Amino acid sequence: MVGGFRVHREQDGAGEGVQEFIGHYWAALVYFVAFYTAPHGEPDVIKPGLALLACLALPAAAAPAPVENPLAAAIARDYQAKLAPLYDYLHANPELSYMEVQTAARMASELRAAGFEVTEGVGKTGLVAILRNGKGPTVMVRADMDALPVEEKSDAPNASKVKVKDMNGNIVPVMHACGHDVHMTSLVGTAHQMAARKSDWKGTLMLVGQPAEERTGGALDMMADGIFKRFGKPDYALAMHVIADVEAGKIEVSEAPFSGADLLEIVVHGIGTHGASPHMGKDPVVIASQIVLALQTVVTRDIAPREAALITVGSFHAGTKGNVIGDSARLELTVRSESDDARAKLLAGIKRVAENTARAAGMPEDKLPEIRHTDRPVPPTLNDKALMQRLRGVWSSKLGEGIFDKGYQRGGMVGEDYAHFIYGQGIPSVYFVIGGTPGGQVAAARAGKGTIAYNHSPLFRVDAEKSIQTGVLATTTALLDLMKR
Ligand SMILES: [Zn+2]
Ligand SMILES: [Zn+2]
Repeated sequence: MVGGFRVHREQDGAGEGVQEFIGHYWAALVYFVAFYTAPHGEPDVIKPGLALLACLALPAAAAPAPVENPLAAAIARDYQAKLAPLYDYLHANPELSYMEVQTAARMASELRAAGFEVTEGVGKTGLVAILRNGKGPTVMVRADMDALPVEEKSDAPNASKVKVKDMNGNIVPVMHACGHDVHMTSLVGTAHQMAARKSDWKGTLMLVGQPAEERTGGALDMMADGIFKRFGKPDYALAMHVIADVEAGKIEVSEAPFSGADLLEIVVHGIGTHGASPHMGKDPVVIASQIVLALQTVVTRDIAPREAALITVGSFHAGTKGNVIGDSARLELTVRSESDDARAKLLAGIKRVAENTARAAGMPEDKLPEIRHTDRPVPPTLNDKALMQRLRGVWSSKLGEGIFDKGYQRGGMVGEDYAHFIYGQGIPSVYFVIGGTPGGQVAAARAGKGTIAYNHSPLFRVDAEKSIQTGVLATTTALLDLMKR
């Protein structure tokens, strides 16, 4: 049913109460139909008068009885009892990348209490929780655990007031401004549902709490720590991210949810001289400026127009004084792609443009620009097409087509280090997004009538109840299909 899980928040209260109150089979049935089929329906928008009117107009036997989703009802109960307090704790107590010590400890205790065998300290502060349930596929679900050095300015009651010393010794504010607290709470919720349904599935469920996603290092560290050798290589892998411009209560899935990223620096050499005698040297500011502009033609002229590719020069440092031509300039770039071919063309194009721009300025061969990676590259997160189609079908049939936020279009080329778990591993994987913002706000923003505080904003605030329940529902529904008996 469309939005079936939302309805079930009402099942414990208003829904059944109304049925008794009206005491008339058809009136009650139509009331429920109105509930269940209201688009984006908050139950309080359904007017009893409207239901009554519909009742009078409805021919007998035309209305199908709504299908209940007991899983959604169970998740709603678990949210009130256990997940809401867990989310409150995690949101109010964020920790920076590689410093997720209390977070990992809390996650370990939650997952142990759910019956999982938990190993901590995998890839520094990561953890792996295993639930074995006979012979069957091993399925991995990953949640990231780190927060950001952002000062929370949202009006959430559990807003973070945390300040810590970061790895460089600076005192910084900390906030779960990317929703990783939603991912962790959903992971625990999924653990509860799967542990309660062991008779419905078989295999090994492997839940991963990954550190340092925001520094794009945690997944690689867990791989370097032999996660798949120690705990088994998954037959399938799942992950999700809450996104501010997707409607809370909905999900979406696409072939390339995240891009690959290369972070580079280019040191452009020049020959220093007096600012009033440029002919006596080679000006690195001019050479580097030409490189910055020429790099944009690598994207537009070397890459096929329908292929995703991006080069951003985010940092440009040179010189000390207006009348001095220095001897170097330093550029820092992020380079994004979604295929090996595009990535190779971008990296080759950057080298070609940088070196030949310097040659054109007359720089000697031993003083051409130096290009190097400043960080470990991140591969693109690409969904397995067959698995994506299978899960789309499962979600659609179990949760209704309305579960998808079809108005969402990924615009940027954000990266995600989850890719290190699956890229080149031959593990079919699906990474999906879940909504974080009430539907009305999303619709208004898409119509150009308002803005949404996006992930990483100090004002980022998700509808945690809906987001987390949707995360658990979508993940558990997928797992019950992939691991079905
Ligand atoms: Zn983030
Ligand atoms: Zn994130």
